[in-house]
Amino acid sequence: NRPGAAFAFDNSYAGLPQRFFAAQVPTPVAEPWLIKLNEPLAAELGLDVETLRRDGAAIFSGNLVPEGAQPLAMAYAGHQFGGFSPQLGDGRAILLGEVVDRSGRRFDIQLKGAGPTPFSRRGDGRAALGPVLREYMISEAMFALGIPATRALAAVTTGEPVYREEVLPGAVFTRVAASHIRVGTFQFFAARGDTDGVRALADYVIDRHYPTLKEADNPYLALFEAVSERQAALIARWLHVGFIHGVMNTDNMTISGETIDFGPCAFMDAYDPATVFSSIDQHGRYAYANQPAIGQWNLARLGETLLPLIDAEPDGAVDKANGVIRAYGERFQAHWLAGMRAKIGLAGKEDGDLELVQALLSLMQAQGADFTLTFRRLSDLTGDDALETAFAASFREPDSCGTWLAQWRERLSRDRQSDGERAAAMRSVNPAFIPRNHRVEQAIEAAVENGDFSLFEALLRVLANPYDDQPDFAPYSEPPKPHERVLATFC
Ligand code: AMP
Ligand code: MG
Ligand code: MG
Repeated sequence: NRPGAAFAFDNSYAGLPQRFFAAQVPTPVAEPWLIKLNEPLAAELGLDVETLRRDGAAIFSGNLVPEGAQPLAMAYAGHQFGGFSPQLGDGRAILLGEVVDRSGRRFDIQLKGAGPTPFSRRGDGRAALGPVLREYMISEAMFALGIPATRALAAVTTGEPVYREEVLPGAVFTRVAASHIRVGTFQFFAARGDTDGVRALADYVIDRHYPTLKEADNPYLALFEAVSERQAALIARWLHVGFIHGVMNTDNMTISGETIDFGPCAFMDAYDPATVFSSIDQHGRYAYANQPAIGQWNLARLGETLLPLIDAEPDGAVDKANGVIRAYGERFQAHWLAGMRAKIGLAGKEDGDLELVQALLSLMQAQGADFTLTFRRLSDLTGDDALETAFAASFREPDSCGTWLAQWRERLSRDRQSDGERAAAMRSVNPAFIPRNHRVEQAIEAAVENGDFSLFEALLRVLANPYDDQPDFAPYSEPPKPHERVLATFC
């Protein structure tokens, strides 16, 4: 129980060549206060929870560097809204080190907002309280929904102001990730013509995230395929819950397949494929329905960095990489359709299923139906009139869904599944609760304006069990009233 002896660090990234990172200790803050420690996660990671309760404010603010940490800022590059920056890097994030959890999985422990680094450019190295709380709530909600995502270990306030368009309270977020290696990490070395660097990174990634690929005929091509597969699966999952990442720059796409960087992200209420929340996404590059295509574009950037490793013969390398990029489209489509079949309760597969799904989505769009509620209420349909009325109420004109419901029932009649089985299966993939944007904003506002974290805590509690009805929290399942609607998010 020595101060700061809460982590059994086992660091590997710090052992990579020096040009991969810059050693950087956190900059201490004036008056750290622990908002929240994720105790279940801490326990899962094998951390000393008692020490963290006692020393958490100091440790998670960066004031006390825990024993065994080797604090560093990672180097990376990236395409931001399509434009390439050869050097970004952790400008406000500091990797303390890695821990191995109870089941042998390795995780990064990173402080975000812990002070400037050599990569800060004009930034202050800090984070404001609002975005820290948003990342905490949404990343934990994603985890509870079963979607791969980085996680929230802790949040602290710093007692110091940060200067944005206005003066805001400062905070530090502690992020846990399978790793923080991004498409942009590969781009950093490729942009410098540093093929040895790309190879060292690829070998490290294979060891850490894809160890079985060492045996593959062409491990680097296999790596590219494996990352494409994880991203295809991930982005399909985003679409299944109405998630809009908001900043799918190549430096915000992980190699592990986890969702990372919860900046201006949000979940949509009424279904509209063109939905954009991010105030900085003026042209809708990262709109809801563009996400699969952007994923493919980002993967093409990853593929470019791997070309010299894939094949010594340039044309051969390009052919092989292009094959992977093309296959991504099919991989995504397969994941997406499988998930949509599950959302409407189909157990088997038939040719017309895609059309049935599309017909529902078109109707939802035309009728302003709430994405989450429509599928949740569909899960409950058993033939009871009251439930059918509740489902139909999601549509501006309730009668408009009658034809689709008849087609759906007809299709269900050919599946060998009881109503009860189907309802249970649907309820396990169609959440009742998502982090509704207006709720997230209300929780942030109460904390920032009044130091009141009760809404933040309540929302975390509800979002921990998104597939349960939780009647006590029913209002949290509802879409915003017109005056509550939040249409823009800021990072
Ligand atoms: P993001 O848009 O969050 O993916 O960040 C893009 C880049 O800007 C990364 O290199 C960040 O480290 C850097 N960055 C963002 N905010 C700050 C800040 N307040 N201070 C320094 N660097 C920052
Ligand atoms: Mg980022
Ligand atoms: Mg960010």
